[in-house]
Amino acid sequence: MPGLPNATEAFVTLVTNPEYGLGAAVLGYKLRAVGTTRATVVMVTETVPETTRAMLAKTWDKVLDVTQLDSKDSDRLAMLKRPELGITFSKLNVWKLNQYKKVVFVDADTMPLSNIDDLFQYEELSACRDAGWPDCFNTGLFVLAPSPDTYKAIMKRACEEGSFDGGDQGLLNAHFNTWSHGDISKHIPFSYNVNPNASYTYLPAYKHFADQVKMVHFLGAVKPWHYQYANGKVQGQNLTEHTRKFLEDWHKVAEMVKQSYYQPTSAAPYVPPISTGSTKPAAPSSHVVPDDVSSVLSHITAQIKNKEKAKSSMY
Ligand code: UDP
Ligand code: MN
Repeated sequence: MPGLPNATEAFVTLVTNPEYGLGAAVLGYKLRAVGTTRATVVMVTETVPETTRAMLAKTWDKVLDVTQLDSKDSDRLAMLKRPELGITFSKLNVWKLNQYKKVVFVDADTMPLSNIDDLFQYEELSACRDAGWPDCFNTGLFVLAPSPDTYKAIMKRACEEGSFDGGDQGLLNAHFNTWSHGDISKHIPFSYNVNPNASYTYLPAYKHFADQVKMVHFLGAVKPWHYQYANGKVQGQNLTEHTRKFLEDWHKVAEMVKQSYYQPTSAAPYVPPISTGSTKPAAPSSHVVPDDVSSVLSHITAQIKNKEKAKSSMY
């Protein structure tokens, strides 16, 4: 039964603001609609307002506070033209949820079309190929086994190497670096993480396999909530038929969730908690992993700056 306090397996997502909150509300609603038997847990950072938390509490079994990790790696993120993605480092908190034996992490911009509970048969670290660079896995969906040791090991790598794309995907691909050529049983079929836009590059395959799509992932800078939606239709040029259909499905659920659960005027205004964050300076040596998150982040930033300084002085 979903939501049982002694559940050992869970779907988990991350939300840091109201926009992704609506995405997660749709996702949580859909996970239940497709009949998941696993617990559903949404990790929220302190920046998420009470109104969004209340909506999430209606569509997810558990709303769990986590610390916001921000890679602050603005140079690399600027390269990707996605400065907001540093925040996705907060995903790493999922390894700390060791009340669960196994977790399927799913981005808040995903939408299952049918039951995906069979993902719990996979072992850490299982994921789907990234459509942009297929030797990497896409971190919009991955199977993991929470463990404080793994969390520490990933943070250590983050401290020592940063992330080649500035976000969680670069870091996790560097950490689980045998994925592409290792155990093929850790390769989840692409149908569990289909980017509707990828079909522009391979439309015939999309049409051929359309019935098998289990979950769509609206990855990229333009998210479903950026589209205008009225009278059951999304406004948008150059959308393929199936992309339009997925967006309209998403919006139908979003409207329902907003009407049923989102009451911004009746909720108390959000008061951020008083910060207890440490003001400790970054640890001096790259071999020492600081214990608290804010120190880890300043440590990463310092490491990257040092490396870049060293590089530029070589020329
Ligand atoms: N996320 C968030 N707030 C942000 C950016 C990202 O909560 O401002 C979370 C959310 O769960 C999101 C995930 O991190 O789905 C990864 O970001 P995104 O989906 O935008 O990356 P993409 O899939 O487009 O590469
Ligand atoms: Mn995503």
